[in-house]
Amino acid sequence: MKRRNFLQTTASTVMLSSLLVEESFAQSKGFPMVISTWKNEKANEAAWATLQKKGSALDAVEAGARIPEADPNDTSVGYGGFPDRDGHVTLDACIMDEKGNAGSVTFLEGIMHPISVARAVMEKTPHVMLSGEGALQFALSQGFKQENLLTETAKKAWKEWQKEAKYEPKINIERHDTIGLLALGNQGEVSGACTTSGLAFKMHGRVGDSPIIGGAVFCDNEVGGACATGLGEFVMKTLGSFLIVELMRNGKSPQKACEEAIMRIVKRYKYKEFQIGYLAIDKKGQYGAYSIQKGFSFTLTKNGVTKVFEADYYMKN
Ligand code: ASP
Repeated sequence: MKRRNFLQTTASTVMLSSLLVEESFAQSKGFPMVISTWKNEKANEAAWATLQKKGSALDAVEAGARIPEADPNDTSVGYGGFPDRDGHVTLDACIMDEKGNAGSVTFLEGIMHPISVARAVMEKTPHVMLSGEGALQFALSQGFKQENLLTETAKKAWKEWQKEAKYEPKINIERHDTIGLLALGNQGEVSGACTTSGLAFKMHGRVGDSPIIGGAVFCDNEVGGACATGLGEFVMKTLGSFLIVELMRNGKSPQKACEEAIMRIVKRYKYKEFQIGYLAIDKKGQYGAYSIQKGFSFTLTKNGVTKVFEADYYMKN
């Protein structure tokens, strides 16, 4: 064989085998595992480390969600999140465990870790959802610290936005890289979490899908779990995560269930110039990922290895 042919063959063999490795990593089943929306390696690694320390799936999704919440460079979650059009950083989050317990907070200001407040709502109150001032008072009573979450960068972006004050979501850069996470724990138990500062420059008082159990997150330990990101109004109108879990209950694979949930949106709402991405896992550790538009990435961790993938999508033309 000529040297050049040999090199070409070797290069394509290497490429093929690395594709096969990727493929077998992605398709391998079992637990524990962690999956999250967008490119969130650090969050997955924190979740994975929690599982390695014998933490539960619930502990893992909370630990994962806390990473972007505390990251000032993440402009759509927690500290550093872009404010609403009146300059307030308002936060939505929810969490759900394998027993069907759920907690959420909406329109919460000044608390760096809304996911942990949501967990406290779940564990320490008879309620599922606390909102606004009430959620803040509850958080303070639980020892959370009140702080200014509006960074200089976010303030600058808001001032810039005010020059035209247009509300124009742009696909994948709508600045809504909300994190949704799902985990299968060491016993195969399913939990999920979601946390966000919501759409940048939203109307004051707007609450999205992220704190809605069944919208942005749903788990059923008999079946699996699902989570969502994207223009929350459409996730809320179709209760996407609940729908996906029900579709899996009725026999669909996680992938087919995500596809069907996206189809419900695109068939019913003709305007498709926005992004929604869904993730789902079943009890075997199989996952699904699908979005309306190209560009929805997700992060998967199995066997201690974390990789980012691009989801398949509806709008091919
Ligand atoms: N779903 C979130 C919302 O509508 C945004 C996002 O996913 O980034 O508030």
